[in-house]
Amino acid sequence: MKKTSTRLADGRELIYYDSRDDTVRDAVDRRPLGRTVTTSEVRHDPLLGDAVAVASHRQARTYHPPADECPLCPSEGDRLSEIPDSSYDVAVFENRFPSLAGDAGRCEVVCFTSDHDASFARLTEEQAGLVLDAWTDRTAELSHLPSVEQVFCFENRGAEIGVTLGHPHGQIYAYPFTTPRTALMLRSVAAYKQGTGGENLFDAVLEWELAGERVVLETEHWVAFVPYAAHWPYEVHLYPRRRVPDLLGLDEGARTEFPKVYLELLRRFDRIFGEGEPPTPYISAWHQAPFGTLEEFDGVARDDFALHLELFTIRRTSGKLKFLAGSESGMSVFINDVPPETAAQRLREVASS
Ligand SMILES: [Zn+2]
Repeated sequence: MKKTSTRLADGRELIYYDSRDDTVRDAVDRRPLGRTVTTSEVRHDPLLGDAVAVASHRQARTYHPPADECPLCPSEGDRLSEIPDSSYDVAVFENRFPSLAGDAGRCEVVCFTSDHDASFARLTEEQAGLVLDAWTDRTAELSHLPSVEQVFCFENRGAEIGVTLGHPHGQIYAYPFTTPRTALMLRSVAAYKQGTGGENLFDAVLEWELAGERVVLETEHWVAFVPYAAHWPYEVHLYPRRRVPDLLGLDEGARTEFPKVYLELLRRFDRIFGEGEPPTPYISAWHQAPFGTLEEFDGVARDDFALHLELFTIRRTSGKLKFLAGSESGMSVFINDVPPETAAQRLREVASS
C-alpha cells in the first residue's frame, strides 16, 4: 500500500491509498475554491448527558447532484471534482461541509473506488483490503489530533437513509469526546468486571452467542451473529475472535481474512432484499475504543473494549422500511418485528455456495 498526502485548493487534506507502490499522485486541484466557513458547535444536553453537534453551514451542501457532476468521481478534463487525479484506488479527504470541525473534531469522506456505479459489496477482496488499510491509517492519524477522543468509521448506504451522493463512499467522524453509545458499553463492561472479579463482558457475550442459534458466519479469525436483543430487523455484529480495542490491534491473519468475511455479509444482505434498485439501505459502523482517558469508567482499560462492526438495514422486508417512531424516538425503546433467531436463519440460508 502506498499513501500520498496532498492538499485541495481550499487547504483541506486529501490522502490517496494505492495498492501499487509505484503510483505517483501529483495532480493539482485547479478549482477556484475559497475556504468554507465552518461553525460546528457541540452542545451537551444537561438532562440526557449526551451531545448534539450544531452545524448550520451544512444547509448549503451538495444535494443529489447529477452523476456527471459527482464530486467523488475522479476529475476529467474540465470536469473538476474533489479528487484532482484522473483515477484513484481509495481516496480520503476532509469533508467540505463537516458536522464536526476545529475544536469540535473532524469529518472525512472515504471514497471506496473511483467507479461511480459500484457498491462496497461489488468490490474485489483486494479493494476491500485497501479500504481496511485506509480506515486503520485514518484511525491512527486522527487519534493524534489534540481535539480528537474517538474515531468512528462508517458507511451509510441508500437514499432511504439520507445519503445524498450515490458514489460508493463512507465517512469518518473524529469526535472530541467519548460518544454516548460507547460510554454505555464501557459502563456495562466496568460493572461486569467488578461483579465477576475481572471477567470481560465482551468475551462473555461472544462465548454465549457462539453457543447459541444466532451465529450467521464463523471463520478462523471472525465471528458474525445477530445479537440476542437486536434493535433492528436485520442486524449483524462482527467480532474478531481475538479481542482488540481498535483496528490498529488486528493481527495479520484477521486483516487478511476480513475482506472475504465482510463482502460475504454485505452480499447476503443484498440477496435477502434484492440487488436491484433501489439498493438495500444499510448502516455499517465500526465500534472502537476511545483514545481519551477512561477515568470515569471505574477500572476499565482501553484493552477491555472489543473492536466490532455493527451492520444493519432499516428494511423489514423488501420495500418496507423500519422507521424510528414514537417508542424508539421518544423513549429509546426499540420494537423489533423480526425475531433475531429468524433473521439469523435467513442470513445463513442466503450464504454463498
Ligand atoms: Zn461518482
